Amino acid sequence: MANQHGGLDPDRKSQEYLDQVGYRLINSVNDIKNSNYKFDFHLLADPNAVNAFALPGGQCFITATLFNKLGSEDQLAGVLVHEVGHDVHRHGAERMAKTGFIQGLIQSVMLGSGGDRNVVQVASVIGQYSSMKYGRDQELESDDFGVYLMMESDFKPEELIKLMDIL
Ligand SMILES: [Zn+2]
Repeated sequence: MANQHGGLDPDRKSQEYLDQVGYRLINSVNDIKNSNYKFDFHLLADPNAVNAFALPGGQCFITATLFNKLGSEDQLAGVLVHEVGHDVHRHGAERMAKTGFIQGLIQSVMLGSGGDRNVVQVASVIGQYSSMKYGRDQELESDDFGVYLMMESDFKPEELIKLMDIL
C-alpha cells in the first residue's frame, strides 16, 4: 500500500514530527496505550493525493501532500485521531466483512500458484483496501472519538474546523 502512494517519504524530520504527534495521542489514553494495537505512523511520499488512512491493527498513513497543507500540529493531530478512531472502533473489520474483502483475499491466496504471482494477487486485493468507503455513521463515530482523544492529549479540538476547510 505504501508503494501505491510513492513509498515512504525520505524526509526523516517530518517523519519524526509525525511520530511525536502520533504517539502523544496514543500515550494519552491508557486503554489505547495498553491495547493490542500496534500503532505506527507513516509519512507517504505521494505528491498528488490528499489522503490519510489506517489499516486494521494500528498502521496509520498520511500523504506528504496532505501533511504539507496542514498549518499546525493540532491539525495534524486532527487527521490522526480520526484514523485512530476508525481503528479503535474496528470500522475496517466491519467494512471488510460487509464487502467480501476477506473472501477476495482468501480466494487470491487459495487460487494462486504460489510464489511471486501469488504475492502480486494478494497485494492487489490489499491495495483495494484504501479505496473502501466507510459508512456515514462510522465517520461520525470516528469524528466523535477524535474530539475526545484531542482533548485527552491536550491538542486543540477547535482546530478540527480549520482542518475540515483544508480537506
Ligand atoms: Zn474516516
